Amino acid sequence: MTDHYECAGCAKKFKTTDAVDGFSQGYKAGFLCPYCHVNLEENGQSDGFDNMAFGYSFWAFTLVLYYLMQGRSIVDWFEPSIANEISSFLVFWLPMCIAFLGYNRNAILKKRIVYTKKVAGRHNLEK
Ligand SMILES: [Zn+2]
Repeated sequence: MTDHYECAGCAKKFKTTDAVDGFSQGYKAGFLCPYCHVNLEENGQSDGFDNMAFGYSFWAFTLVLYYLMQGRSIVDWFEPSIANEISSFLVFWLPMCIAFLGYNRNAILKKRIVYTKKVAGRHNLEK
């Protein structure tokens, strides 16, 4: 599956393999959009945590839950007790995880979009 870039200049999407190498044209950093020839560099992707809905909230929830559940268990299914602690954590965490993945299924399952930003500065034009 080919990743796609989303141009920060014209918002068009194009295959990463279609990105134009601008080095020979004096652009020393990043690549060029094949449509508008803006000098771009990568800026995260659609399935990165910072671009998924509730990405950080989910991580925060996981960490807080892990902290709260340390040394505690609400189930008594296994020997040794560490298995019960892990199970207790999963009882709370798995539904959230499933909800999170379900909510973000498009970002995870659809083709990955790699976001871009314009390369700052004019130093790229110096030869
Ligand atoms: Zn463009």
